[in-house]
Amino acid sequence: MQMRIGGKEVSSPDESWTEVKNPATGEVIDRVPAGSAEDVARAVEAAEAAAEPWKKIPMRDRGMVLFRAAGKVREQHRDLARLLTMEQGKPLKEAIDEVRGFANILEFYAGISAQQAGDMIRLGPAGDCLVVREPLGVCGAIIPWNMPVLIMGWKAGPALLAGNTLIIKPAATTPLTTLKLGAILDEAGLPPGALNIVTGPGPVVGEALVSHPAIRKISFTGSCATGTRVRELAAMQLKEVTLELGGSDPMIVMEDADIGRAVEGALRGRFYNAGQTCTAVKRLYVHEKIARPFTQRLKERVDALNVGNGLGPKTDMGPLNSAAGRDFIARAVDETREKGEGTILSGGCTLRGSAYEQGNFYRPTLVADVTPASVLLKEEIFGPVLPVVTVPDLDTAIREANRSSYGLGASVWTQNLAVTKKVFDNVHAGIIWVNRHLTVPPEVPFGGMRESGIGRENGHHALEQYSRTKTLFIGW
Ligand code: NAD
Ligand code: MN
Repeated sequence: MQMRIGGKEVSSPDESWTEVKNPATGEVIDRVPAGSAEDVARAVEAAEAAAEPWKKIPMRDRGMVLFRAAGKVREQHRDLARLLTMEQGKPLKEAIDEVRGFANILEFYAGISAQQAGDMIRLGPAGDCLVVREPLGVCGAIIPWNMPVLIMGWKAGPALLAGNTLIIKPAATTPLTTLKLGAILDEAGLPPGALNIVTGPGPVVGEALVSHPAIRKISFTGSCATGTRVRELAAMQLKEVTLELGGSDPMIVMEDADIGRAVEGALRGRFYNAGQTCTAVKRLYVHEKIARPFTQRLKERVDALNVGNGLGPKTDMGPLNSAAGRDFIARAVDETREKGEGTILSGGCTLRGSAYEQGNFYRPTLVADVTPASVLLKEEIFGPVLPVVTVPDLDTAIREANRSSYGLGASVWTQNLAVTKKVFDNVHAGIIWVNRHLTVPPEVPFGGMRESGIGRENGHHALEQYSRTKTLFIGW
């Protein structure tokens, strides 16, 4: 496929390409231009030209464009989901969820488009003020490969509704569905150039985007290391940033929890998307009074997971998106095993057999009695490995949960309100779930504390972060 600049498909002038491979089979499924800083500059010109016309369209009509695009996405959701599975690896049913999630986001923003009243401040004899919100201008969005469609929606929905124009840089391994969705948004009525998609290597295209002086805001989702670099470059131009970075969410299962429900929550929380989710359950703390039955049941469920090509009808878990990601996971588990820092109850190895040979597969892995020194607890594990720690009481669970430098999400599984309040008040995270984990619908503000990032996506919160106030002060 080609890039999208100014409402058109364009190739890179130097005709260099990046191959996109299916992570389940190793087959090349397509190629996209390996873009450069010049392509970013062309996209910025197109986005600047579209900025005035798009901003002048009333917000509710901008919302209608998003709404029409959502309808087209729903009509084509099967094909889009198939393409997402082929480039990303996730099971088709999860890809369908994600594509529908994208439509949900556009519809949510379309729905709030008529509510954007400003403020009026009455100052008595001094006069009156009208406070309105204005778009920022041209924005940049850098998205990762784990949830490329959903995260595109989290950025494009509010940025476009607020009246900004946008340049998206997808991850090198997952550009295809993003490009298709860009075409759908254009067909739905975006002025040419309101949305541009530049493909290519992260350090080249990403840094060109962050460094371009005409771009007013960067919204980045990805690793802490890259996010820190993005903030550093953006600071040189006083550019606004939203950073959605890593996470190492704790899940705390108390003695009064519904064990069956908690087991299903842990299973989905960890193994959805082969564990490659920012708010996955990455550390599990279970109360000693129920640790045995809980762990036993969880092991049975983990052992029963079907691993395979995401297009297979029985697949519960697909391959990892990259071989490098798989190898990182394998090393972390091997190290834990070799140092005696945990007991492997399930998995702990790659899959053998001809169906798996060319793919980046790793078995769903459950590790019990993990010690605090283990890399499985100290680093973000972006794959299907769940470390379980037994704790004697809630205070210990909270203390251990807060040991991480991240603060994205956390969950507690209990019927007890006092426990809920204590976790809510004391665990460092942007969202605390009770008796669930993972899901973030479009209404719900999402973002981290500490090293998990800066700013919020979703809800009216994101809309505010893609605009600024402007005040008219009337002295009558
Ligand atoms: P990454 O930082 O390697 O890549 C993210 C994006 O940045 C990609 O598009 C990449 O091409 C681009 N990039 C790479 N180098 C760049 C540079 N120098 N300048 C600008 N852009 C550059 O992250 P990843 O490994 O692809 O993604 C996984 C990470 O993303 C995990 O840490 C995960 O927790 C995090 N994540 C966070 C959220 C959230 O909302 N908090 C959601 C999903 C993923
Ligand atoms: Mn990376």
